[in-house]
Amino acid sequence: MDTLVAYKEHLREIGKLESAVSLLGWDQRTNLPRKGHPARAEVIGKLTKMVFELSVSDKLGEYLSELESRDSLSQVEQASVRVVGKAYRRHKAIPPAFYEEYAVAAARSETAWEEAKEKSDFSLFKEHLERMVDYARKFAEYYGYKDSPYDALIEEFEPGMTSTELKTIIAPLREELVPFIKRLMQEGKRPDDTFMRGTFPDDVQRALSLKALEAMNYDFDAGRLDPTVHPFTTTIGPGDVRITTRFLPHNILSGLASSMHEGGHALYDQGIPDELRWSGLDEGASFGIHESQSRTWENLVGRSRSFWKFFAPIAGEIIPQLSSASAEDLYRAANIVEPSLVRVEADEVTYNLHIMLRFELEEGLITGKTNVADLPELWRDAMKRYLGVVPEDDAHGVLQDVHWSSGLFGYFPSYMLGNLYSAQFFAAARKDIADFDEKIASGNLSDLLSWLRKNIHQYGKMYEPKELIERVTGEKPDPSYFVRYIVDKYTDVYDLH
Ligand code: ZN
Repeated sequence: MDTLVAYKEHLREIGKLESAVSLLGWDQRTNLPRKGHPARAEVIGKLTKMVFELSVSDKLGEYLSELESRDSLSQVEQASVRVVGKAYRRHKAIPPAFYEEYAVAAARSETAWEEAKEKSDFSLFKEHLERMVDYARKFAEYYGYKDSPYDALIEEFEPGMTSTELKTIIAPLREELVPFIKRLMQEGKRPDDTFMRGTFPDDVQRALSLKALEAMNYDFDAGRLDPTVHPFTTTIGPGDVRITTRFLPHNILSGLASSMHEGGHALYDQGIPDELRWSGLDEGASFGIHESQSRTWENLVGRSRSFWKFFAPIAGEIIPQLSSASAEDLYRAANIVEPSLVRVEADEVTYNLHIMLRFELEEGLITGKTNVADLPELWRDAMKRYLGVVPEDDAHGVLQDVHWSSGLFGYFPSYMLGNLYSAQFFAAARKDIADFDEKIASGNLSDLLSWLRKNIHQYGKMYEPKELIERVTGEKPDPSYFVRYIVDKYTDVYDLH
């Protein structure tokens, strides 16, 4: 068999197994009865191992080395060989025995973190976290890097990004946003949201989410919406991209935002062309680019004045209590800023500061500048400087996120990059699409979706994030789009002068 044919067939085998893993995982987090969990974990473990073995098999290595020297490949094939080859070498760099040892330690560490968080006692977690930092540093050594071991870790989530570059991106954000938030809180007029108070049953909230997803042109023939505890989007396979959401009984906007966020992730995956399926390119360009799509729909669209002009009457019809509120009232109520202790509850103004803090701490841990023992204190100090609030206990401070407990370092910045990229993409879309705001205000969101499809979705993982951003916007990643978006919008919403 021709190597190229065999290579593609090999990737399809991996794709089919991954599809089964995704479906089992989706079921685990939405429908699986409590007693079925232990056996399900074993089944998923078995299939995941099979995927891993195919991903590092010698056969795949032979295909890659032959194809890497071929010059007759199409552009898509070349990109596939580059992306799959890179992942292959990263996997191969890790000795299996080391990986197994790490996996056992990570499982223990996660359990210790759960207990430490519940008791709000960092000392129960400290040694585990030290071990996870050690493992992460060893992973970085195996992967290799030029300047900083942190770069080797971030590469997994945001190819081509470095800690030096992140620092230059963060500096203007910090300089502008920290004082701006202080001004908002001291001089701004907080929007009224008392008219939104009440208890809203799940079926009513679901109806509202479905209306928003329909307007976004989420394809229900290629997906579905289900409730869960921690919302996520999962691509089961071609033609099947599912979203999940969660509804809070007393907060109608939270569930809507969650649905639109996951809907944004799903539109990206639904927009990846069949040509790229099971080629290693059938996913987002990076975690940051993926997050830029969710943030586009959740915030830049879903919290915009134009969107509420269109959506207010729909909301009023589903929730009679809201029918007397104006579109402007709803728009303002959807944009309340509240410096808070917990990242996942943060609004779009304060969110990035939560990430900056985490980036600075984890980068320090990986480069050895920061000791695990000092984390709780460093955390409190940074929260005070950035957001003006200080956690009273570690459960609401350094212990709040699960990521570090399993050795996941270098992941947090993608949340922030998603916010920054979304503002830069949105500015470009606004330039390209005539009557942009009028279209959104009339419920026409399909021009925006077509623009995202044409400029971003159709390429899947063919380009690295920086290259994609330059192709789409003609510029390098530039945080000033986000800063301008936030300052302009909230100066208006909070009546600052
Ligand atoms: Zn997301």
